[in-house]
Amino acid sequence: MQQTTVRQASGRRPTTRRRFLTTTLSSTLGAGLGAAALTACAADDSAAGTPVAHSTPGSARPAAAPTIQPPVANGKEALQRLVEGNQRFVANRSEEVDEGEERRVAVSKGQHPFATVLGCVDSRVPIELVFDQGLGDLVVVRSAGEVLDHSVTASLEFGVAELGTPLLMVLGHQRCGALTATIKALDAQRTEAEAGEIGYLVDALAPAVRQVKGKSGDRLDNAVHANVDLVLAQLRKSTVLGPLEKSGKVRLVGAYYELDTGKVTLNPS
Ligand SMILES: [Zn+2]
Repeated sequence: MQQTTVRQASGRRPTTRRRFLTTTLSSTLGAGLGAAALTACAADDSAAGTPVAHSTPGSARPAAAPTIQPPVANGKEALQRLVEGNQRFVANRSEEVDEGEERRVAVSKGQHPFATVLGCVDSRVPIELVFDQGLGDLVVVRSAGEVLDHSVTASLEFGVAELGTPLLMVLGHQRCGALTATIKALDAQRTEAEAGEIGYLVDALAPAVRQVKGKSGDRLDNAVHANVDLVLAQLRKSTVLGPLEKSGKVRLVGAYYELDTGKVTLNPS
């Protein structure tokens, strides 16, 4: 049975994971496992409420032991995990990111990330840190302004369809330089391409800037949000992602990262 496989796997896995939080997540603590087995077993692990990964015989203090993250059953749980990770990051109480030797060895045998995230290349928005996640947790694709091209879209499709993440997030951010450059280019009515391939980015981001023309509020912030929505709309046209979303196998969400606070806010969907 898959369940048996899961529990055996969890028992073998090292327990270097972050010292876990509080009762918020303790009810769902379990073990990492393959995506296929994930859905079938998550409910059982949750119901049992037993931190399998650190069930040392005779241990009287299971709550204090380190543990690993359990699988997620669906996009909702994956999103909740990202939200909670970001809350830790914002509160300056990030757990020790699981990048130690034991974890590295464990994930070398296979990967079962729980979310795919498309973010900007901005050096101030490192995805794993922003969400307080470790090795093997996330599929991260980054391009300036979250601009899509064949390679980016295919990478996102790979994360969702091949690696089985039930969540795909597009993360825009405050004071995005790519969108700032696009605004400047449009305001200057520059028709010549920027140096190198940067003009490609400007062309790709121009629709978002044009869309918010005349809108009240901060122009750049408005463009960042509009761009996330446009990227999501494009992704929904993917012959891979669109049907997976419709069937409920993946959840697509947009979000905004505030540089000033570190906080990620979900876009209304
Ligand atoms: Zn940016």
